[in-house]
Amino acid sequence: MNGPEFDNTFAKLPRILYEEVKPTPIKNARLVHVTKLRETLGLGSLSDDELTGWLNGEIQLSGEQRIATRYAGHQFGVWAGQLGDGRAISLGEIVTNAGRLEIQTKGSGLTPFSRMGDGKAVIRSSVREYLCSEAMEGLKIPTTRVLALLIGEDKVQREEIERSAVVARVMPSNIRFGHFEMCFHFEKQEALDALIDYTRKTFFNDVSVEEMLTEVVTRTAKLMAMWMGVGFNHGVMNSDNMSIMGLTIDYGPFGFLEDTDLNYICNHSDQQGRYAYSQQPSIGMWNLERLLICFMNRVPKEKLESILGIYPEIFEKEFTRIGREKLGLKLEQEGDNLLFTRLLQVMDKLSLDFTFTFRQLSNENMKPFWDYYGNREEMKEWITQYEARLALESGSTQERYTRMKQVNPKYILKNYIAQEVIVDVEQGNSGRLNDWLKVFYSPFEEHTEFEKYAMPTPSEHKHYEVSCSS
Ligand code: AMP
Ligand code: MG
Repeated sequence: MNGPEFDNTFAKLPRILYEEVKPTPIKNARLVHVTKLRETLGLGSLSDDELTGWLNGEIQLSGEQRIATRYAGHQFGVWAGQLGDGRAISLGEIVTNAGRLEIQTKGSGLTPFSRMGDGKAVIRSSVREYLCSEAMEGLKIPTTRVLALLIGEDKVQREEIERSAVVARVMPSNIRFGHFEMCFHFEKQEALDALIDYTRKTFFNDVSVEEMLTEVVTRTAKLMAMWMGVGFNHGVMNSDNMSIMGLTIDYGPFGFLEDTDLNYICNHSDQQGRYAYSQQPSIGMWNLERLLICFMNRVPKEKLESILGIYPEIFEKEFTRIGREKLGLKLEQEGDNLLFTRLLQVMDKLSLDFTFTFRQLSNENMKPFWDYYGNREEMKEWITQYEARLALESGSTQERYTRMKQVNPKYILKNYIAQEVIVDVEQGNSGRLNDWLKVFYSPFEEHTEFEKYAMPTPSEHKHYEVSCSS
């Protein structure tokens, strides 16, 4: 069958980097949702049934591919050896108006890299990935995107028996730090060189290796600052879950801060808190070091060290910039970073809802905040410092509130919201998913019918636990 025109470039790399695979269709696949990427990708001419059949591996399009890629990585700080796409299959690359985009289906069955896994994905984790990818897009944070969600009727064993699903993901490239680590640690220098030059030419404008690495370090540092700025905790920052493009990738047990706890660990399986919210900036750098080591045959050691060395400064600068924006500050003053981090500490101490607090600071009237939290001494003290700082600013307060509302979202993907959508999708409905996607594509706007979800999480919906199992 004819569809879009594919231009599959990754599969021209040395064979060590991928295997051809056969997808395992999920049973009685039903298309629950498709995003606008369908048009971007030139898939508009396929009917819903054709698209479903293709994504589920039942129909082939001319020019497509079915490959799973081989990577390796460090998991929880330890070398984990070979990994790879254990349940994701790449269907091909398409050059679009938005650049080169690869379509990958997650939950498409066993691959040579499935290890102990079953190659499947369940509705729960697929809906979470679906919502969060698009929510990140709405928050203007670099991320893999989604094209479609299919649900099936296979029984899949997790902590409980759940039903199967497939998420079709879209991204410029699936290349992870782990692809470089695989070539390097298994001493496949030729493949490594080919991968480096392919990545450089295809995705980094043909710049030098050093410039590319500088760009990867910069993007990663900025990504970490952006995560911190919205209270996002990824949860499984293994080096195989780090995108060379600087995208947020592999949504698993992620969580956004609700009651602020700077040591929040969204991943129930992470007992040591290696990937806690507050650890992310330093883990980002640790992972970059794992990546840069793989370039030691291409770039002098001192150069690699100096490239890695720019990370803390870039992170700090971006984090301070985001902090200033969130507080509505236009002037750059020495103590701004301190003012911002002091607020985070107060929010932590008083367990204030992260998103609600920043949004309230963006309002002419903080009454709802004081009504909700009552008289909190530490917060009042901080407000006094903040007001002193604001006195240095020019411009109207109204203008400041408008600016602040463009960077402090009103709506964030809370676990209980995801849970409500999951229940709905499991019953075969797409209403809530549709509604919430609309909200998350514009989280800075008012959506009055969802007002109550912008309030701090009701106590019966707190402390939702998410494990690695997906
Ligand atoms: P993650 O930490 O979820 O990104 O996954 C780590 C590794 O395990 C990757 O190689 C995944 O492809 C693989 N994996 C995760 N879940 C499954 C599964 N259910 N079946 C096969 N492979 C899986
Ligand atoms: Mg992964």
